Amino acid sequence: MHEDDKLLIVGAGHAGAELAVTARQLGWAGSIDLIGDEGVLPYQRPPLSKAYLHGAATLDALELRPASAYATARVHVHAGVRLLGIDRLAHTVHLDDGRTLAYTRLALCTGGRPRPLSLPGLPVGARPRNLHYLRTLADADAIRAGMAEGVRVVVVGGGYVGLELAASARKFGAEVTVLEALPRVLARVTGAEVAAFYEAVHREAGVQLRTGFIVARAELADDGAIAALIGASGERIATDIVVAGIGMLPNVELAEAAGLEVDGGIVVDELSRTSDPDIVAAGDCTVHHSALYGRRIRLESVPNALEQARAAASLLCGKPKPNRAVPWFWSDQYELKLQMVGLSQGHDDCVLRGDPASRRFIAFYLKAGVVIAADAVGRPADFMIAKRLVAAGLPVDAARLADDAVPLKDLLPAAAASAPVLAPVLAPVPATAAATVAQSG
Ligand SMILES: Cc1cc2nc3c(=O)[nH]c(=O)nc-3n(C[C@H](O)[C@H](O)[C@H](O)COP(=O)(O)OP(=O)(O)OC[C@H]3O[C@@H](n4cnc5c(N)ncnc54)[C@H](O)[C@@H]3O)c2cc1C
Repeated sequence: MHEDDKLLIVGAGHAGAELAVTARQLGWAGSIDLIGDEGVLPYQRPPLSKAYLHGAATLDALELRPASAYATARVHVHAGVRLLGIDRLAHTVHLDDGRTLAYTRLALCTGGRPRPLSLPGLPVGARPRNLHYLRTLADADAIRAGMAEGVRVVVVGGGYVGLELAASARKFGAEVTVLEALPRVLARVTGAEVAAFYEAVHREAGVQLRTGFIVARAELADDGAIAALIGASGERIATDIVVAGIGMLPNVELAEAAGLEVDGGIVVDELSRTSDPDIVAAGDCTVHHSALYGRRIRLESVPNALEQARAAASLLCGKPKPNRAVPWFWSDQYELKLQMVGLSQGHDDCVLRGDPASRRFIAFYLKAGVVIAADAVGRPADFMIAKRLVAAGLPVDAARLADDAVPLKDLLPAAAASAPVLAPVLAPVPATAAATVAQSG
């Protein structure tokens, strides 16, 4: 590393901000430029559907770091500037303010954008004023401005973002309807038991939850706003506000145009290296091979963005530290905290510890007797142990797993004594937080 080296980071979100500050901490000697198109300092996205949306958190509280922290780390933040193209041969990038900047190393932390709602009846190329998405602070402000008691809010999509938004809207006294095309909510990310629990919680809170509801078209009012969404059966759901929470598209176009390997995300390894040795990438815009699950995965979560950013910084500073964290994620709805570790897709058994009726339980997902994922509601201490169980990748006794009288930590030594299955490829999971995550949607 040399004082003349230039680290250029595109995307001032969780990953970009972490990478910038960590690189300096790890000894990057040259300049660090953080380029973000949102016009504000990097902020936390998760509260946008939770505390910030319903007014319990202010804008100041969202900032990841104060401006002084970037100044101290000698990170030059370019807020409100968009990167338009990368010239890998020349090692330069082009910005929308007309500048061309040179880099020694480039980091792509471009995140993602909401998947657009495409429906017959919606105008092409223009968005009705009452159709919203939720990704940015500006999105959250626009939604919040329309919230009031009695306002009819229709949320399309029963994933985490949609359900959190529904819970926040209920705090305003809005009349909330959630339309989910699949037979249950959270279908992509959790098991049937936990989905059923959250469906009951939302219905109890007064949300009209419609699963298996295919939205067939939109009906516009004279002023161009959406007046109603019409189901495949012809049912008409009148509305004042529509929020589409139907997933995210990774921002990979810059990487694609530059000829980097992209496969539903910018392909990186456990050191966040792309197919160009001078370019790293981190966060929602990436895919990586998971040794734990034996396949490429794309994670949409803060812990993953942070871990990948730290791995990238360690590589850039000549102190490579691979990211082998186990995915983890959280969701806040009403007064409930859900914490998830691992990816439950492909499980063949679900073991419950605790009674969902008590609103404190944990669901373990097993495949061939091995815990591959867990969802904990109101059980933070058990969640920490669940992380270790998932990381261990070893068979467990399902009956003891279900028995609340058996301390969960007692299953760990037993697991460790058994033949290792996946442990050799896994880093130890710290007892604090750290590891990884699942996807929002
Ligand atoms: C409403 C909501 C709730 C969520 N809740 C949770 C939660 O509870 N827990 C959790 O773990 N995760 C949650 N997530 C997901 C989490 O916020 C993301 O995983 C995380 O923000 C990813 O960070 P990132 O840095 O990869 O991307 P982002 O945060 O998306 O940051 C990327 C930045 O790059 C900018 N950018 C893109 N292209 C360019 C360009 N060409 N030039 C300049 N800038 C560019 C973007 O505008 C953006 O500011 C939530 C997400 C949303 C939207």
